[in-house]
Amino acid sequence: MKPRSAHTIIRVLDQATVNKIAAGEVVERPASAVKELVENAIDAGARTIRIEILATKLDITSVRVTDDGIGMSPDDALLAFTPHATSKIAAITDLDTVRTLGFRGEALASIAAVARVTLITRPRDDELAPGTKIVIAGGEILENGPAGAPAGTSILVEDLFYNTPARKKFQKSRQTELAHVHDLLEGIFLSHPGIAFRFTYNGAEQLVTDRSTSPLDTIARIYGAGLARDLVFVSGQSPLLAITGHISRPSVSRKDNARIFIAINGRYVTSPAITNAIKEGYGTLLPKDRFPVAFLNLEIDTSLVDVNVHPTKKLVRISREPEMARFIRDAVHDALSGQDLIPDIRPPGPAQPIMADLSPAQKTPRPYLMDTVLPGGVAESTHAGTVNTDQRLRQTELAPDTAAGSTLPPLHVIGEFGGIYILATSESGELLVIDQHAAHERILYEIAGRKDTGEKRVQELIAPVILHRSPRESAILLEILPALRDEGFHIEEFGRDTFIVRAIPVVLGKLEDTSLLEDIISDLVSAERGQRVDNRERITRVVACRGAIKAGTVCTQEQCQRVADQLRLTKNPFTCPHGRPTMIRLSKADLDALFKRT
Ligand code: ADP
Ligand code: MG
Repeated sequence: MKPRSAHTIIRVLDQATVNKIAAGEVVERPASAVKELVENAIDAGARTIRIEILATKLDITSVRVTDDGIGMSPDDALLAFTPHATSKIAAITDLDTVRTLGFRGEALASIAAVARVTLITRPRDDELAPGTKIVIAGGEILENGPAGAPAGTSILVEDLFYNTPARKKFQKSRQTELAHVHDLLEGIFLSHPGIAFRFTYNGAEQLVTDRSTSPLDTIARIYGAGLARDLVFVSGQSPLLAITGHISRPSVSRKDNARIFIAINGRYVTSPAITNAIKEGYGTLLPKDRFPVAFLNLEIDTSLVDVNVHPTKKLVRISREPEMARFIRDAVHDALSGQDLIPDIRPPGPAQPIMADLSPAQKTPRPYLMDTVLPGGVAESTHAGTVNTDQRLRQTELAPDTAAGSTLPPLHVIGEFGGIYILATSESGELLVIDQHAAHERILYEIAGRKDTGEKRVQELIAPVILHRSPRESAILLEILPALRDEGFHIEEFGRDTFIVRAIPVVLGKLEDTSLLEDIISDLVSAERGQRVDNRERITRVVACRGAIKAGTVCTQEQCQRVADQLRLTKNPFTCPHGRPTMIRLSKADLDALFKRT
């Protein structure tokens, strides 16, 4: 990365340049002031940045940011408060190459217009240069003169919005404002692992990071070592962009995307397209309504990133975004494949660090662990049932040639529990609990979804089945008939809103009653909102789900073994096609810890 402090002289931008810059109010709340000050410190090449916030019970009273960056000369210090004065660009064309976080020259002027600001600064690289102190309130300079100061810059902001009562009234509670500061600083800290940050609130440490070359250290400092252990390294390089970062194993997921951090050239940004690409990279490893945790740093040629679209620069415009999104999706996919993704049952560890004095939502330990819902079900075993399950399992065997490169070790089934779970041990002495339905569903999904088998294996129904659907459903069904035929369903229109089913895929096993077909068609015609998959994928998922042995079907040990063996042959044995885990693991060490034998 080029040094951020390439320019050191501040100039006032000409009006033509000013007019081309996305303008807007950048200081609308205390957190925005914090953002601008910290970004200036980063642009100044600081190695250490301190953020100190003081508050009363009612609101935030002061913000101070201190850095050991390049500092400012007495002339520059004064100019820094002039609107549109910046050292970072000289002309609009410089935006194509800008790598600094700021470039508009607006922030200090805007903050000084609505608060009382005290600046103390001294140039870092000039031993003889004097220090400067400037006090400015409501845009008026109250004090300006030499002062003893360490190298670097310290800016204190007090009485924020004292002269703009409307904006002051608009501020939310102190807790809300603090939560904003927290969110903001997490993003900034994560995108700059090379800087040591220290954030204190009323003197108490809140978030602290050390200088490190590894973002993983920063992640561990902020979210705990537990999360850091559950991350997988991602990297990728294309002519367009370079990716490095960490993404969570599927066992760690969230109901929102609030823990997806994206930094482009060191700027922490929000990007729906990239967030979506990350999620797509997980494919069926995550349920469709869950999001991973991800920390990605993207290096993109600055001429392809337009940072000049929004005053706070959190949104950027990327040229050739679809291409980049595809590349990111594939990098995420590649990082996850071939990994051992079985979730561990961990004995309760030491509590997560809890931040003092934050909003209740922030105070709860960060909930990144997946809340697994266990399906209910009554176990029932009948002879007919056993025979039937047997047929189903036999008819749907994965060819053994896929065994090459199995990510699972051989499993030895030791029993069955509750008609739902298969208990197995691995060669390395771990206990695995397998969800038989989820596992079988994964197996069927991979058989049904194989692209290389040419014609699907189909079975003619001895007695064709007639289906009646509502006009709306018939319309949808008519539309997907060709796709259904490709997947092994031979269905024809048979009069108005009536269809005749002549053949179904072999993976569905023997058709015992027509309700299975009814269910499949219902699943297919009910639009799965928010799920961006093609017809073929949708059909495959429905077939796998409906064809798989149900929870509550008691299987013999032999049948359980067959499921376990077949699961090993799948490409992704760790989750069902909806992203729920197929198995969890308990190591002997975990058990020992749970029984306090250690
Ligand atoms: P911008 O960051 O867009 O240039 P600002 O109003 O935030 O505009 O800052 C104006 C100028 O003041 C910057 O271009 C920089 O030269 C100088 N400056 C601000 N903060 C610092 C700092 N912490 N250390 C050194 N120089 C700074
Ligand atoms: Mg700035």
